[in-house]
Amino acid sequence: MGAKGRKIKPYRYKNLINTPSHGRFVISAGNGSAQAVFCPLLLIFADYFMASSVHHKTFCVVNLGCKLNFAEASTIARQLSGMGFAQAGEGDAADIYVVHTCAVTAQAEKKCRQAIRKLAKQRHGTAICVTGCYSLIKGAALEQMPEVSLVADKSEVAQKIGEYFSPSVSAYCPAGTSVGDFFTAYSSGDRTRSFLKVQDGCDYRCSYCTVPLARGESRSIAIEKIAAQAEEIAAQGVNEIILTGVNIGDFGKSTGENLLQLAQRLEKVKGISRYRISSVEPNLLTAELVDFVADSPKFLPHFHIPLQSGANRILGLMRRRYTRELFAEKLLYVREKMPLAFIGVDIIAGFPTETEAEFESACAFLQALQPSYLHVFPYSKRPNTPAAEMPQVPGAQISDRAKRLGTLCAALHADFYKKNTGRTGSVLFESAHKNGYMFGFSENYVKVALPYNADLVNKIAPVRMLGAGEDGNMRCEVVK
Ligand code: SF4
Repeated sequence: MGAKGRKIKPYRYKNLINTPSHGRFVISAGNGSAQAVFCPLLLIFADYFMASSVHHKTFCVVNLGCKLNFAEASTIARQLSGMGFAQAGEGDAADIYVVHTCAVTAQAEKKCRQAIRKLAKQRHGTAICVTGCYSLIKGAALEQMPEVSLVADKSEVAQKIGEYFSPSVSAYCPAGTSVGDFFTAYSSGDRTRSFLKVQDGCDYRCSYCTVPLARGESRSIAIEKIAAQAEEIAAQGVNEIILTGVNIGDFGKSTGENLLQLAQRLEKVKGISRYRISSVEPNLLTAELVDFVADSPKFLPHFHIPLQSGANRILGLMRRRYTRELFAEKLLYVREKMPLAFIGVDIIAGFPTETEAEFESACAFLQALQPSYLHVFPYSKRPNTPAAEMPQVPGAQISDRAKRLGTLCAALHADFYKKNTGRTGSVLFESAHKNGYMFGFSENYVKVALPYNADLVNKIAPVRMLGAGEDGNMRCEVVK
């Protein structure tokens, strides 16, 4: 159905009045402005005004990038829905597109520009709002793109779009979106799992990385505020939460708390059965946290430990804060406590000055440690980083090394699935299905496929793993 024929959800002004956490309005009056803090009359007026302006307007959020971006994109969508915009159906034209961008590599930036141009071409005349890391680093360049209508910080997207369609309401701050300079976010839509943002920014200065430039200093909000969000997620029937952030091992630096305390508190949230912790830097992965996960009924044996290079000289040039020996110690400790834990590892191929001997030594190191999976990143030269000034490895060698790491990853992953074959795991099944199969992940992140059974959607069931199928997913049967 086209946008015009679709049923549009009306703006619900009651939401605004009944929710004390809706911070403030600034309503334009000529050149000046009148601020109203929780003034019901003005709220009703502004609410009505906004409602009539955005009524029948539709939006679509296009997310590019990491799980953190995914959580933030989902929050932006909820904010716009709360303001009375309707989410465009799949394939339908929207009145405005929000493109949540990524700047982690030159390739990621290119994909963002391509996505913007493609949207403008496909949806001629539509409005495009750009936000996210790329817009923070190259906002001025993006503003020059004729396809771009507005560039906004993610905390201001809803407000700016409101103003775009309703210029006389100059500011609108939807509920619970920012605490200080922390944009709170969690993903919704898939009722099975939610990505909950617990930390943002990074104080490290790895020599190849632009993320701190885009996301600023390491910061988080108080544990109790995160627990309240987890309760909100639980109330929506979601079973599993994945904690996300830029450098979540650094959680609590700005509040005097730490990641272990967060995990201990979240474990008490009723309704959430499972948690996964995403990437933690090796130097920040403590034995206490590993011990906690090993004993926890809710935190799952799933770790993501970035290595980036298996050569100490390169780790030094990268300004990473560990040696390969420390990395190995942490990985082996996880394995000692949880022999079948899934361990994913980030690795960069072709960092400046990396020799063939160093690369081969890194491969042998990984082969010996047997992680479950490698996230391989071909080195990407980023402007304004120290690594960009170092002697570069030729592009063809970077690609070749990335390819060889990909082959190693496939072998490690297949080995991990073999080790799991024959055992019983606990799987949370998702709603998506394809070719008669439904899918889910075991506690240790084995992706299983089972003939579709609607009764199992969003349920956790014990399954016997039977071996990897041709598509690479583990075949399984439910244990009665
Ligand atoms: S830890 Fe290093 S690579 Fe990761 S976000 Fe911070 S600076 Fe970038």
